[in-house]
Amino acid sequence: MEYDVIIVGGGITGAATARDCAMRGFKTLLVERGDLCDGASGRNHGLLHSGGRYAVTDREGAEECIRENRILRRIASNCVEPTEGLFISLPEDGLDYQANFIAKCREAGIDAKAIDPKEALRLEPAINPSIIGAVKVPDASVDPFRLTDANVLDAQRHGADVLKFHKVVSLIVEEGRVKGVEVLGHNDVSTKKIYAREVVLAAGIWTAALAEAAGVHIGMMPSKGALIIFGHRVARMVINRCRKPANADILVPGDVVSVLGTTSDKVPLETCDDMHATPEEVELLLREGVQLVPSLATTRIIRAYAGVRPLVVADNSGDGRSVSRGIVLLDHEERDGLPGLITITGGKLTTARLMAEMTADLLCRKFGVNRRCETAEKPLPGSDGRKARFEDPVEQRAAIGRHGGEVSKMDFSQGREVLCECEQVTRAEIRYAVQHFGVRNISDLRRHTRIGMGTCQGSFCIRKVAVALAGELGDPSLADTFVKEYLQERWKGMTPVLWGDTLREGEYMHKVHSL
Ligand SMILES: Cc1cc2nc3c(=O)[nH]c(=O)nc-3n(C[C@H](O)[C@H](O)[C@H](O)COP(=O)(O)OP(=O)(O)OC[C@H]3O[C@@H](n4cnc5c(N)ncnc54)[C@H](O)[C@@H]3O)c2cc1C
Repeated sequence: MEYDVIIVGGGITGAATARDCAMRGFKTLLVERGDLCDGASGRNHGLLHSGGRYAVTDREGAEECIRENRILRRIASNCVEPTEGLFISLPEDGLDYQANFIAKCREAGIDAKAIDPKEALRLEPAINPSIIGAVKVPDASVDPFRLTDANVLDAQRHGADVLKFHKVVSLIVEEGRVKGVEVLGHNDVSTKKIYAREVVLAAGIWTAALAEAAGVHIGMMPSKGALIIFGHRVARMVINRCRKPANADILVPGDVVSVLGTTSDKVPLETCDDMHATPEEVELLLREGVQLVPSLATTRIIRAYAGVRPLVVADNSGDGRSVSRGIVLLDHEERDGLPGLITITGGKLTTARLMAEMTADLLCRKFGVNRRCETAEKPLPGSDGRKARFEDPVEQRAAIGRHGGEVSKMDFSQGREVLCECEQVTRAEIRYAVQHFGVRNISDLRRHTRIGMGTCQGSFCIRKVAVALAGELGDPSLADTFVKEYLQERWKGMTPVLWGDTLREGEYMHKVHSL
């Protein structure tokens, strides 16, 4: 098997890079050890940054964010909810930061407008009524799972191959250059070799270990961030605290829930495969979060989770907040004398398209071809302006919202019944996910459809879903295993928040689903 490019890692960076490479005409392979979005791309806020958060400390990052924010609203309209955002100042914050913040936003090209606190409270009644200042910015909410899926679908439609559930165990280094990767499939007993002219590492925090094994050192600092999901949308807009970035100062509405985060702590590399939020992190997030939106104190928490930012540092000290979230593109031929290998990491979900463009530009230079990047102009699958209308069948409306025109590929004549009521997911959508994304279990299905991500977290629907999925996969006996695995996964997120309503829900789930 031989490719022009092999991309390692099916997070948003790898997915966007696969799309750009395929659109430039390169024979492309994307390899992911698990499902898409298994890393940081499935464990973040889902905030489409306006750049406001970086305006004061990182002008370049802020400019990249606002540019990409505008592009993604256009090319990924079904993944982005234009909620807009507020940066609020509390009495203890004072207004000095706000004045500088607005000036820096404007320098970076971000439309930041100070508004009267009364007007802010009218726009967003959930925020702390004691605010002394507010600034409106073009933040938005973005669904990372949908965005990654759309990039991968488009890559495939431009000829890319995608190999999920295959781990890259090593890079093939022969005659002083990287010539490919050695992969081990989940169900395989032996590895296979796949060759390419260039290998791109887009494996998030796991990039460092892969590069190290090929003799290349990249100083990466795993920075853990914990987040909490609340059972409904407490606010309509993204709410940020107008101060130097700190813990729990962002609340993002996403689909039917709200996400509060985050923390920033340096963690050992070996722990990155098993990330979960701790009760201490939850306590800290809540203590700070209620300053933003007081009703969070009494809102049902549905779970907590954590992800690791793939930050690259010259100096491995500090907690990660002061380390740049900047894009890092490394040409290892130039940097380390190892041809055939490129690394793309750092950055953000918001800037992944740009990271992909930079990588594909470098590949064009290496291959000696002159092909323009078109990813900022061409809409992603599903972003075709198709919106749910009143006359659409009721069971199709949520799917249209999620997948836009892609919904035409779902066969509703054979699967109209709604299985997940919170997110209105039908059997037809489950079949679509199985056919297009190689779903193997309910956790995979969750990433591609939002099944179990809503208010009931699967308590009511998971058995029906398990039976339907097992049927689609052609083995009804799998249903019980699916339920057990799914509940086990849910427990991880519920354990640090097991009190009050969450505990009641946990007991309910236990009684209903004890097998
Ligand atoms: C708590 C938190 C909150 C954040 N909030 C935001 C936000 O609101 N907005 C924003 O713009 N950004 C946000 N970010 C940043 C953003 O999530 C990341 O920058 C981005 O998701 C990184 O994507 P990636 O594809 O580079 O890495 P990842 O998503 O980590 O993907 C790497 C992939 O590589 C795979 N992989 C690893 N090793 C191998 C191997 N050996 N073989 C094959 N595959 C392999 C992994 O399974 C994984 O899927 C946040 C990050 C964190 C941690």
